[in-house]
Amino acid sequence: MNVPRWALLFTFALAAPIFAPVCCAQADFSLHATPVAPAAPDPAIAGALQTIKPADIEKTIQALVGFGTRNTLSSMETDLPAGQGITAAADWIAGQFEAISKECGGCLEVHRDTFTETASERIPQPTTITNVYAILRGADPVQAKRMVLVTGHYDSRVTNVLDAQTRAPGANDDASGVAVSLECARALSKLHLPATVVFVAVAGEEQGLNGSSHLAKLAHSEGWQLEAVLNNDIVGGNTTPGDTLQLKDRVRVFSEGVPVAATPEQARRIRALGEENDSPSRELARAIADTGRTYFPAATGAPFSTFLVGRPDRYGRGGDHTSFNREGFAAVRFTEWREDFNHQHQNIVMPPAGSSDPILGDLIQFVDFNYVANVARLNAATLATLASAPGQPVKLTMVTKKLDNGSTLQWDAPAGAAANVHYELLWRETTAPDWQYMQTVTPQAGAGPITVTVPISKDNVVFGVRAVDAAGHRGLVQVP
Ligand SMILES: [Zn+2]
Repeated sequence: MNVPRWALLFTFALAAPIFAPVCCAQADFSLHATPVAPAAPDPAIAGALQTIKPADIEKTIQALVGFGTRNTLSSMETDLPAGQGITAAADWIAGQFEAISKECGGCLEVHRDTFTETASERIPQPTTITNVYAILRGADPVQAKRMVLVTGHYDSRVTNVLDAQTRAPGANDDASGVAVSLECARALSKLHLPATVVFVAVAGEEQGLNGSSHLAKLAHSEGWQLEAVLNNDIVGGNTTPGDTLQLKDRVRVFSEGVPVAATPEQARRIRALGEENDSPSRELARAIADTGRTYFPAATGAPFSTFLVGRPDRYGRGGDHTSFNREGFAAVRFTEWREDFNHQHQNIVMPPAGSSDPILGDLIQFVDFNYVANVARLNAATLATLASAPGQPVKLTMVTKKLDNGSTLQWDAPAGAAANVHYELLWRETTAPDWQYMQTVTPQAGAGPITVTVPISKDNVVFGVRAVDAAGHRGLVQVP
Protein backbone atom coordinates (compact mmCIF):
# COMPACT_ATOMS: atom_id res chain seq x y z
CA MET A 1 0.00 0.00 0.00
CA ASN A 2 1.27 3.45 -0.90
CA VAL A 3 0.75 5.97 1.88
CA PRO A 4 1.99 9.54 1.33
CA ARG A 5 4.61 10.67 3.86
CA TRP A 6 2.50 13.56 5.07
CA ALA A 7 -0.23 11.10 6.05
CA LEU A 8 2.20 9.09 8.20
CA LEU A 9 3.39 12.24 9.94
CA PHE A 10 -0.20 13.27 10.56
CA THR A 11 -1.05 9.86 12.05
CA PHE A 12 2.01 10.02 14.34
CA ALA A 13 1.13 13.52 15.49
CA LEU A 14 -2.32 12.31 16.51
CA ALA A 15 -1.04 9.16 18.17
CA ALA A 16 1.86 10.68 20.10
CA PRO A 17 -0.12 12.22 23.00
CA ILE A 18 -1.63 8.83 23.81
CA PHE A 19 1.84 7.50 24.71
CA ALA A 20 2.99 10.60 26.58
CA PRO A 21 2.81 10.48 30.41
CA VAL A 22 -0.60 11.65 31.53
CA CYS A 23 0.44 12.96 34.89
CA CYS A 24 3.44 13.61 37.01
CA ALA A 25 1.93 13.53 40.49
CA GLN A 26 3.96 11.67 43.08
CA ALA A 27 3.10 8.00 43.59
CA ASP A 28 1.98 6.75 47.01
CA PHE A 29 5.11 4.63 47.40
CA SER A 30 7.43 7.65 47.28
CA LEU A 31 5.23 9.98 49.32
CA HIS A 32 6.64 10.68 52.80
CA ALA A 33 9.18 7.89 52.22
CA THR A 34 12.80 8.09 53.32
CA PRO A 35 15.25 7.22 50.56
CA VAL A 36 17.60 4.40 51.55
CA ALA A 37 20.92 5.88 52.68
CA PRO A 38 24.17 4.18 53.70
CA ALA A 39 24.54 3.19 57.36
CA ALA A 40 27.21 4.92 59.45
CA PRO A 41 30.51 3.01 59.52
CA ASP A 42 31.35 0.94 62.60
CA PRO A 43 34.72 2.35 63.80
CA ALA A 44 35.97 -1.13 64.79
CA ILE A 45 35.21 -2.54 61.32
CA ALA A 46 36.68 0.54 59.63
CA GLY A 47 39.83 0.08 61.70
CA ALA A 48 40.09 -3.59 60.72
CA LEU A 49 39.78 -2.68 57.02
CA GLN A 50 42.74 -0.34 57.38
CA THR A 51 44.93 -3.26 58.45
CA ILE A 52 44.47 -4.90 55.02
CA LYS A 53 47.69 -4.11 53.16
CA PRO A 54 48.51 -4.61 49.46
CA ALA A 55 52.00 -5.76 50.53
CA ASP A 56 50.55 -8.74 52.44
CA ILE A 57 48.45 -9.65 49.40
CA GLU A 58 51.54 -9.53 47.22
CA LYS A 59 53.36 -11.88 49.63
CA THR A 60 50.49 -14.38 49.52
CA ILE A 61 50.24 -14.41 45.74
CA GLN A 62 54.02 -14.60 45.41
CA ALA A 63 54.10 -17.61 47.75
CA LEU A 64 51.29 -19.40 45.91
CA VAL A 65 52.89 -18.76 42.52
CA GLY A 66 56.07 -20.26 44.00
CA PHE A 67 54.57 -23.76 44.13
CA GLY A 68 55.13 -24.15 40.40
CA THR A 69 51.85 -25.82 39.62
CA ARG A 70 48.79 -25.98 41.83
CA ASN A 71 46.89 -28.18 39.44
CA THR A 72 44.60 -30.37 41.56
CA LEU A 73 45.90 -33.54 39.87
CA SER A 74 49.43 -32.73 41.09
CA SER A 75 48.44 -34.17 44.49
CA MET A 76 48.92 -37.60 42.85
CA GLU A 77 52.27 -36.79 41.17
CA THR A 78 55.22 -38.58 42.73
CA ASP A 79 58.03 -36.94 40.75
CA LEU A 80 57.47 -33.23 41.46
CA PRO A 81 60.45 -31.39 42.98
CA ALA A 82 60.25 -30.97 46.76
CA GLY A 83 58.01 -28.11 47.83
CA GLN A 84 56.17 -27.98 44.50
CA GLY A 85 52.58 -28.88 43.71
CA ILE A 86 49.18 -28.46 45.27
CA THR A 87 49.83 -30.46 48.45
CA ALA A 88 52.69 -28.13 49.38
CA ALA A 89 50.37 -25.18 48.67
CA ALA A 90 47.69 -26.64 50.98
CA ASP A 91 50.27 -27.02 53.75
CA TRP A 92 51.37 -23.42 53.28
CA ILE A 93 47.79 -22.07 53.45
CA ALA A 94 47.10 -24.09 56.61
CA GLY A 95 50.33 -22.65 58.04
CA GLN A 96 49.14 -19.11 57.26
CA PHE A 97 45.86 -19.69 59.10
CA GLU A 98 47.83 -21.16 62.04
CA ALA A 99 50.09 -18.09 62.09
CA ILE A 100 47.09 -15.72 62.03
CA SER A 101 45.53 -17.75 64.83
CA LYS A 102 48.69 -17.48 66.94
CA GLU A 103 48.45 -13.68 66.68
CA CYS A 104 44.94 -13.70 68.16
CA GLY A 105 45.55 -16.17 70.97
CA GLY A 106 44.38 -19.25 69.06
CA CYS A 107 41.12 -17.68 67.87
CA LEU A 108 40.95 -19.76 64.67
CA GLU A 109 40.15 -23.47 64.35
CA VAL A 110 42.14 -24.62 61.34
CA HIS A 111 40.70 -27.58 59.42
CA ARG A 112 41.47 -29.70 56.39
CA ASP A 113 38.62 -31.31 54.50
CA THR A 114 40.49 -34.07 52.63
CA PHE A 115 38.71 -36.60 50.44
CA THR A 116 39.26 -38.78 47.37
CA GLU A 117 37.41 -37.67 44.26
CA THR A 118 36.47 -40.56 41.99
CA ALA A 119 37.59 -40.54 38.36
CA SER A 120 35.61 -38.38 35.89
CA GLU A 121 36.18 -36.42 32.68
CA ARG A 122 38.75 -34.02 34.19
CA ILE A 123 39.99 -36.43 36.87
CA PRO A 124 41.71 -39.41 35.18
CA GLN A 125 42.29 -41.37 38.40
CA PRO A 126 40.93 -41.22 41.96
CA THR A 127 42.52 -38.03 43.31
CA THR A 128 43.14 -36.63 46.78
CA ILE A 129 41.60 -33.16 47.17
CA THR A 130 42.03 -30.95 50.22
CA ASN A 131 40.05 -27.85 51.20
CA VAL A 132 41.71 -25.79 53.89
CA TYR A 133 39.56 -23.62 56.12
CA ALA A 134 39.63 -21.73 59.39
CA ILE A 135 36.70 -20.97 61.68
CA LEU A 136 36.44 -17.83 63.78
CA ARG A 137 33.74 -18.83 66.27
CA GLY A 138 31.20 -16.17 67.14
CA ALA A 139 31.66 -14.47 70.50
CA ASP A 140 27.91 -14.61 71.26
CA PRO A 141 26.81 -18.14 72.24
CA VAL A 142 23.42 -17.78 70.50
CA GLN A 143 24.59 -15.87 67.42
CA ALA A 144 27.61 -18.18 66.97
CA LYS A 145 25.35 -20.72 65.23
CA ARG A 146 24.97 -18.26 62.37
CA MET A 147 27.81 -18.38 59.85
CA VAL A 148 29.17 -16.35 56.96
CA LEU A 149 31.91 -17.66 54.68
CA VAL A 150 34.53 -16.31 52.29
CA THR A 151 36.32 -18.50 49.76
CA GLY A 152 38.76 -18.59 46.88
CA HIS A 153 40.25 -21.56 45.01
CA TYR A 154 43.96 -22.31 45.37
CA ASP A 155 44.20 -24.79 42.50
CA SER A 156 45.43 -23.55 39.12
CA ARG A 157 45.70 -24.79 35.56
CA VAL A 158 47.35 -24.27 32.17
CA THR A 159 45.87 -24.78 28.70
CA ASN A 160 45.44 -28.52 29.23
CA VAL A 161 43.44 -28.92 32.44
CA LEU A 162 44.89 -32.44 32.85
CA ASP A 163 48.50 -31.17 32.83
CA ALA A 164 49.80 -31.60 36.40
CA GLN A 165 53.46 -30.78 35.68
CA THR A 166 53.74 -27.54 33.70
CA ARG A 167 54.22 -24.28 35.61
CA ALA A 168 50.75 -22.86 36.33
CA PRO A 169 51.15 -19.66 38.40
CA GLY A 170 47.42 -18.93 38.68
CA ALA A 171 48.23 -15.51 40.12
CA ASN A 172 44.88 -13.95 39.27
CA ASP A 173 42.92 -17.22 38.91
CA ASP A 174 42.82 -17.67 41.75
CA ALA A 175 45.68 -16.84 44.11
CA SER A 176 43.99 -13.41 44.24
CA GLY A 177 40.84 -14.98 45.74
CA VAL A 178 42.85 -16.98 48.28
CA ALA A 179 44.64 -13.76 49.26
CA VAL A 180 41.22 -12.18 49.92
CA SER A 181 40.24 -15.09 52.16
CA LEU A 182 43.53 -14.91 54.11
CA GLU A 183 43.36 -11.11 54.48
CA CYS A 184 39.79 -11.33 55.76
CA ALA A 185 41.01 -13.84 58.38
CA ARG A 186 43.90 -11.58 59.35
CA ALA A 187 41.70 -8.47 59.64
CA LEU A 188 38.61 -9.99 61.28
CA SER A 189 40.43 -12.23 63.78
CA LYS A 190 41.10 -9.07 65.78
CA LEU A 191 37.37 -8.32 66.18
CA HIS A 192 34.99 -10.08 68.53
CA LEU A 193 32.16 -10.72 66.12
CA PRO A 194 28.95 -12.20 67.52
CA ALA A 195 28.38 -14.71 64.66
CA THR A 196 30.85 -17.19 63.15
CA VAL A 197 33.05 -16.47 60.12
CA VAL A 198 34.64 -19.21 57.99
CA PHE A 199 37.70 -18.49 55.81
CA VAL A 200 38.20 -21.01 53.02
CA ALA A 201 40.60 -22.03 50.26
CA VAL A 202 39.21 -24.85 48.11
CA ALA A 203 40.82 -27.04 45.45
CA GLY A 204 39.41 -28.85 42.42
CA GLU A 205 37.66 -25.77 41.00
CA GLU A 206 39.25 -26.14 37.58
CA GLN A 207 38.51 -29.88 37.46
CA GLY A 208 34.77 -29.35 38.14
CA LEU A 209 34.11 -27.44 41.39
CA ASN A 210 35.00 -30.63 43.28
CA GLY A 211 36.34 -29.03 46.46
CA SER A 212 33.54 -26.52 46.91
CA SER A 213 30.95 -29.16 46.09
CA HIS A 214 32.35 -31.40 48.85
CA LEU A 215 32.47 -28.55 51.37
CA ALA A 216 28.97 -27.28 50.51
CA LYS A 217 27.58 -30.80 50.98
CA LEU A 218 29.47 -31.10 54.27
CA ALA A 219 28.00 -27.76 55.38
CA HIS A 220 24.52 -28.96 54.42
CA SER A 221 24.83 -32.37 56.10
CA GLU A 222 26.27 -30.85 59.28
CA GLY A 223 23.49 -28.25 59.36
CA TRP A 224 25.71 -25.17 59.14
CA GLN A 225 23.50 -22.07 59.35
CA LEU A 226 25.34 -20.46 56.44
CA GLU A 227 23.74 -17.10 55.67
CA ALA A 228 26.25 -15.83 53.13
CA VAL A 229 28.98 -17.27 50.93
CA LEU A 230 31.36 -14.84 49.21
CA ASN A 231 33.32 -16.47 46.40
CA ASN A 232 36.29 -14.49 45.09
CA ASP A 233 37.58 -15.77 41.77
CA ILE A 234 39.75 -13.62 39.46
CA VAL A 235 39.87 -10.46 41.57
CA GLY A 236 43.38 -9.41 40.55
CA GLY A 237 42.39 -6.23 38.75
CA ASN A 238 44.32 -7.22 35.60
CA THR A 239 46.91 -4.59 34.77
CA THR A 240 47.65 -5.62 31.17
CA PRO A 241 49.41 -2.67 29.50
CA GLY A 242 47.29 -1.01 26.85
CA ASP A 243 43.92 -2.12 28.26
CA THR A 244 42.15 1.23 28.41
CA LEU A 245 38.77 -0.27 29.33
CA GLN A 246 39.81 -1.78 32.64
CA LEU A 247 38.15 -0.15 35.68
CA LYS A 248 39.84 -0.28 39.06
CA ASP A 249 37.15 1.43 41.09
CA ARG A 250 34.58 -1.40 41.05
CA VAL A 251 34.14 -5.13 41.28
CA ARG A 252 31.42 -7.25 39.70
CA VAL A 253 29.20 -9.33 41.96
CA PHE A 254 27.25 -12.09 40.21
CA SER A 255 24.18 -13.63 41.85
CA GLU A 256 21.56 -16.13 40.77
CA GLY A 257 17.96 -15.00 40.20
CA VAL A 258 15.65 -18.00 40.57
CA PRO A 259 17.55 -20.27 43.00
CA VAL A 260 18.95 -23.39 41.36
CA ALA A 261 17.87 -25.26 44.51
CA ALA A 262 14.24 -24.06 44.38
CA THR A 263 11.71 -26.88 44.54
CA PRO A 264 8.95 -26.86 41.88
CA GLU A 265 6.58 -25.44 44.51
CA GLN A 266 9.03 -22.66 45.40
CA ALA A 267 9.58 -21.88 41.72
CA ARG A 268 5.81 -21.63 41.24
CA ARG A 269 5.58 -19.10 44.08
CA ILE A 270 8.49 -17.08 42.67
CA ARG A 271 6.71 -16.88 39.31
CA ALA A 272 3.38 -15.99 40.91
CA LEU A 273 4.81 -13.16 43.02
CA GLY A 274 7.40 -11.89 40.53
CA GLU A 275 10.27 -12.64 42.90
CA GLU A 276 12.76 -13.64 40.20
CA ASN A 277 14.96 -10.73 41.30
CA ASP A 278 14.80 -11.45 45.02
CA SER A 279 16.60 -14.72 45.69
CA PRO A 280 18.60 -14.89 48.94
CA SER A 281 21.76 -14.64 46.80
CA ARG A 282 20.47 -11.46 45.11
CA GLU A 283 19.68 -9.93 48.53
CA LEU A 284 23.21 -10.85 49.60
CA ALA A 285 24.59 -9.08 46.51
CA ARG A 286 22.56 -5.97 47.42
CA ALA A 287 23.86 -6.18 51.01
CA ILE A 288 27.43 -6.17 49.65
CA ALA A 289 26.70 -3.06 47.59
CA ASP A 290 25.06 -1.43 50.63
CA THR A 291 28.04 -2.23 52.88
CA GLY A 292 30.38 -0.90 50.21
CA ARG A 293 28.58 2.46 50.29
CA THR A 294 29.15 2.61 54.05
CA TYR A 295 32.90 1.89 54.03
CA PHE A 296 34.08 3.34 50.70
CA PRO A 297 35.61 5.81 50.65
CA ALA A 298 35.14 6.36 54.42
CA ALA A 299 37.49 3.59 55.57
CA THR A 300 39.92 3.61 52.69
CA GLY A 301 40.07 7.13 51.30
CA ALA A 302 39.27 5.89 47.81
CA PRO A 303 36.00 5.15 46.05
CA PHE A 304 35.26 1.51 45.31
CA SER A 305 31.84 0.20 44.34
CA THR A 306 29.92 -2.97 43.68
CA PHE A 307 28.59 -3.58 40.18
CA LEU A 308 25.69 -5.98 40.55
CA VAL A 309 25.23 -8.49 37.74
CA GLY A 310 21.87 -10.24 37.73
CA ARG A 311 23.03 -13.65 36.53
CA PRO A 312 24.73 -16.57 38.28
CA ASP A 313 28.05 -16.21 36.45
CA ARG A 314 29.69 -15.07 33.21
CA TYR A 315 28.68 -16.69 29.89
CA GLY A 316 29.78 -20.31 29.73
CA ARG A 317 31.75 -20.05 33.00
CA GLY A 318 31.22 -21.42 36.48
CA GLY A 319 32.53 -21.00 39.98
CA ASP A 320 32.49 -22.31 43.53
CA HIS A 321 29.52 -20.20 44.63
CA THR A 322 27.37 -22.44 42.42
CA SER A 323 28.23 -25.45 44.60
CA PHE A 324 26.79 -23.57 47.59
CA ASN A 325 23.75 -22.38 45.59
CA ARG A 326 23.05 -26.03 44.74
CA GLU A 327 22.93 -26.87 48.45
CA GLY A 328 20.44 -24.07 49.02
CA PHE A 329 22.81 -21.40 50.40
CA ALA A 330 22.97 -17.73 49.43
CA ALA A 331 26.25 -17.40 47.51
CA VAL A 332 27.71 -14.85 45.09
CA ARG A 333 30.81 -14.41 42.95
CA PHE A 334 33.24 -11.46 42.96
CA THR A 335 35.22 -10.96 39.73
CA GLU A 336 37.29 -8.05 38.41
CA TRP A 337 35.70 -5.63 35.94
CA ARG A 338 37.37 -6.86 32.76
CA GLU A 339 39.17 -10.16 32.44
CA ASP A 340 42.13 -10.74 30.14
CA PHE A 341 41.81 -14.20 28.68
CA ASN A 342 45.47 -14.25 27.63
CA HIS A 343 46.21 -14.48 31.34
CA GLN A 344 43.87 -17.28 32.30
CA HIS A 345 44.12 -21.03 31.73
CA GLN A 346 47.22 -20.58 29.51
CA ASN A 347 50.70 -22.03 29.26
CA ILE A 348 53.25 -19.28 29.79
CA VAL A 349 54.50 -17.97 26.45
CA MET A 350 56.90 -15.00 26.23
CA PRO A 351 56.86 -13.53 22.73
CA PRO A 352 60.24 -12.89 21.10
CA ALA A 353 61.73 -9.41 21.50
CA GLY A 354 60.15 -6.91 19.11
CA SER A 355 57.01 -9.02 18.61
CA SER A 356 53.62 -7.44 19.16
CA ASP A 357 52.17 -10.77 20.33
CA PRO A 358 50.81 -10.71 23.88
CA ILE A 359 52.44 -12.48 26.80
CA LEU A 360 50.41 -15.55 27.68
CA GLY A 361 50.01 -16.95 31.18
CA ASP A 362 48.48 -16.06 34.54
CA LEU A 363 51.56 -14.19 35.78
CA ILE A 364 51.85 -12.11 38.93
CA GLN A 365 53.03 -9.09 36.90
CA PHE A 366 49.42 -8.57 35.77
CA VAL A 367 47.96 -8.46 39.30
CA ASP A 368 47.16 -5.12 40.95
CA PHE A 369 47.64 -5.64 44.70
CA ASN A 370 45.86 -2.37 45.54
CA TYR A 371 42.81 -3.62 43.66
CA VAL A 372 42.85 -6.99 45.46
CA ALA A 373 43.13 -5.09 48.76
CA ASN A 374 39.95 -3.16 47.99
CA VAL A 375 38.13 -6.38 47.10
CA ALA A 376 39.37 -7.87 50.39
CA ARG A 377 38.14 -4.79 52.31
CA LEU A 378 34.71 -5.04 50.70
CA ASN A 379 34.54 -8.75 51.61
CA ALA A 380 35.75 -8.13 55.16
CA ALA A 381 33.29 -5.26 55.68
CA THR A 382 30.41 -7.44 54.48
CA LEU A 383 31.40 -10.43 56.62
CA ALA A 384 31.85 -8.26 59.72
CA THR A 385 28.58 -6.39 59.17
CA LEU A 386 26.54 -9.55 58.67
CA ALA A 387 28.26 -11.31 61.57
CA SER A 388 27.49 -8.31 63.82
CA ALA A 389 23.89 -7.84 62.66
CA PRO A 390 20.97 -9.79 64.07
CA GLY A 391 19.83 -12.73 61.93
CA GLN A 392 16.95 -12.51 59.51
CA PRO A 393 13.29 -11.92 60.36
CA VAL A 394 11.45 -15.20 60.82
CA LYS A 395 8.16 -16.21 59.15
CA LEU A 396 7.88 -12.92 57.27
CA THR A 397 4.50 -12.79 55.55
CA MET A 398 2.41 -10.33 53.61
CA VAL A 399 -1.03 -10.36 55.22
CA THR A 400 -3.55 -10.75 52.40
CA LYS A 401 -6.79 -11.61 54.22
CA LYS A 402 -8.76 -8.97 52.34
CA LEU A 403 -8.18 -7.01 49.14
CA ASP A 404 -7.03 -3.47 49.89
CA ASN A 405 -4.60 -0.83 48.68
CA GLY A 406 -2.45 -0.89 51.79
CA SER A 407 0.13 -3.46 52.82
CA THR A 408 0.52 -5.27 56.11
CA LEU A 409 3.62 -7.30 56.87
CA GLN A 410 4.17 -9.53 59.85
CA TRP A 411 7.21 -11.36 61.19
CA ASP A 412 8.90 -12.76 64.27
CA ALA A 413 12.21 -11.55 65.66
CA PRO A 414 15.33 -13.48 64.60
CA ALA A 415 16.32 -16.24 67.04
CA GLY A 416 18.20 -14.81 70.02
CA ALA A 417 17.75 -11.21 68.90
CA ALA A 418 18.45 -8.61 71.58
CA ALA A 419 15.53 -6.57 72.92
CA ASN A 420 16.83 -3.40 71.27
CA VAL A 421 16.86 -4.80 67.72
CA HIS A 422 14.80 -2.76 65.29
CA TYR A 423 13.76 -3.32 61.70
CA GLU A 424 13.82 -1.55 58.39
CA LEU A 425 10.89 -2.02 56.07
CA LEU A 426 12.27 -1.50 52.58
CA TRP A 427 10.59 -1.20 49.23
CA ARG A 428 11.31 -0.49 45.61
CA GLU A 429 9.50 -0.32 42.32
CA THR A 430 9.29 -3.81 40.80
CA THR A 431 11.60 -2.74 37.97
CA ALA A 432 14.17 -1.03 40.22
CA PRO A 433 17.45 -2.90 40.72
CA ASP A 434 17.98 -1.99 44.38
CA TRP A 435 16.00 -0.89 47.46
CA GLN A 436 14.79 2.70 47.15
CA TYR A 437 12.76 3.62 50.24
CA MET A 438 12.64 2.66 53.86
CA GLN A 439 10.76 3.06 57.10
CA THR A 440 12.10 2.24 60.55
CA VAL A 441 9.97 -0.18 62.56
CA THR A 442 10.53 -0.26 66.33
CA PRO A 443 8.84 -3.30 67.83
CA GLN A 444 6.60 -2.98 70.88
CA ALA A 445 7.93 -4.57 74.03
CA GLY A 446 6.63 -8.04 74.72
CA ALA A 447 6.18 -11.26 72.83
CA GLY A 448 4.20 -11.82 69.65
CA PRO A 449 4.81 -11.08 66.00
CA ILE A 450 5.82 -7.64 64.74
CA THR A 451 3.26 -6.05 62.44
CA VAL A 452 3.50 -2.99 60.24
CA THR A 453 0.92 -1.48 57.87
CA VAL A 454 1.73 1.13 55.23
CA PRO A 455 -0.63 2.92 52.80
CA ILE A 456 1.26 1.56 49.79
CA SER A 457 -0.08 -1.05 47.41
CA LYS A 458 1.78 -4.37 47.63
CA ASP A 459 0.92 -4.84 43.95
CA ASN A 460 3.14 -1.96 42.82
CA VAL A 461 6.35 -2.48 44.78
CA VAL A 462 8.56 -5.19 46.26
CA PHE A 463 8.75 -5.11 50.06
CA GLY A 464 11.56 -6.46 52.19
CA VAL A 465 12.48 -6.40 55.87
CA ARG A 466 15.86 -6.48 57.59
CA ALA A 467 16.83 -6.57 61.24
CA VAL A 468 19.27 -3.93 62.53
CA ASP A 469 21.09 -3.94 65.86
CA ALA A 470 21.45 -0.94 68.20
CA ALA A 471 24.84 -0.07 66.63
CA GLY A 472 23.31 0.06 63.13
CA HIS A 473 24.59 -3.24 61.62
CA ARG A 474 22.14 -4.20 58.93
CA GLY A 475 21.21 -7.86 58.41
CA LEU A 476 20.20 -9.49 55.14
CA VAL A 477 16.89 -8.46 53.64
CA GLN A 478 14.09 -10.99 53.47
CA VAL A 479 11.11 -10.69 51.16
CA PRO A 480 7.68 -11.99 52.22
ZN1 LIG B 1 38.95 -19.48 38.87
